[in-house]
Amino acid sequence: MSDAVIPPALGLDDLGPESTPVAYEVGGPDNAVAYVTLNRPEYRNAQNSVMTYSLDAAFRKAVDDPAVKAIVLRANGKHFSAGHDIGTPERDFDTHYDNVAALHWDHTDKSGADQRLARETEVYMGMCRRWREIPKPVIAQVHGACIAGGLMLAWICDFIVASDDAFFSDPVARMGIPGVEYFAHAYALGTRRAKEILFTGERFTAAQAADWGMVNHVVPRDELPATVDAIAEKMVAMPLQGLFLSKKAVNICEDQMGLRNSMDSVFGWHHFAHAANAESGGDSLGGMDAKSMKASSANGSGS
Ligand code: ZN
Repeated sequence: MSDAVIPPALGLDDLGPESTPVAYEVGGPDNAVAYVTLNRPEYRNAQNSVMTYSLDAAFRKAVDDPAVKAIVLRANGKHFSAGHDIGTPERDFDTHYDNVAALHWDHTDKSGADQRLARETEVYMGMCRRWREIPKPVIAQVHGACIAGGLMLAWICDFIVASDDAFFSDPVARMGIPGVEYFAHAYALGTRRAKEILFTGERFTAAQAADWGMVNHVVPRDELPATVDAIAEKMVAMPLQGLFLSKKAVNICEDQMGLRNSMDSVFGWHHFAHAANAESGGDSLGGMDAKSMKASSANGSGS
């Protein structure tokens, strides 16, 4: 993979309504809603590092804008996100970006388990955790596929509103891996549902997700943007202090219920899985590249 074909991650000034791989615009009453749009539709919004770092810039822009009081995370194209990029021509696993989560050293001059832990601590776990703590409400507007790493993006949001054609899965047990890095499964789904979707790797529908408490509302596809806008409008009528303290309060409760500690613990087992796969002679994904995952599940999606 040559660095030459990979665009640099977007900075705060690069973001616009058409920018790729993440688009950014503000709207709603008094421009109080920031719309952060995954914009890599030709690859089902598979998340390469360029997208992840650009997403981080977009969230920072929204946090820094004093007019913005709520954020909508949505996607262009047929699907919300097929997960982490494990097979597109712009996969940029080995490309250096300045660490923004700053929880570990750069991975690009490392190898093996050291490299995997460094990259996933920065790009997956570190950024997702920071995004969960964004001091403004974030609504996920989900349509189409929301697979594996796509679930991570939906789960860091405070609200999930899905269209009735949305579907979800985390099929990475097929790689011998116990779910995606941001292990919120048991909290987002309940323990037995979490086991069911992990053990089978099967899709679950928006209606099921709502029934299990993971999704707030399910609406027809053509009503999705208006429904999200209506919820955002109600939120931005509230004082920002009330919003961010309410968010913090619920997040504190979730952490007291064990989310943060269990995620740390499971992250170790996740990396045992990567290492065991690599040690057995294959790659750290258990030989499951995007093509084989596509054949066995909905979309190319990795961990
Ligand atoms: Zn991983």
